[in-house]
Amino acid sequence: MSAPENSDSKKTIKCPQCGRMALFAPENPFRPFCSERCRIIDLGQWASESFRIPVEQDPASKENEISDDDSENYE
Ligand SMILES: [Zn+2]
Repeated sequence: MSAPENSDSKKTIKCPQCGRMALFAPENPFRPFCSERCRIIDLGQWASESFRIPVEQDPASKENEISDDDSENYE
């Protein structure tokens, strides 16, 4: 009989942020992260990702504005 590798009843997972082993149990409120710091870093990355929404102005609407200005100049 070989010794079971997971004899430890506590489940550990790899922290997605720093790669260290983190306790995956109710005792760890920051799971799946190892610490509050890693959780905050991950959340911060998420926030910055969603903040980077490209705001491109429609060139068509700009053209419309110019042509509108032009027609006024026509008279
Ligand atoms: Zn971590």
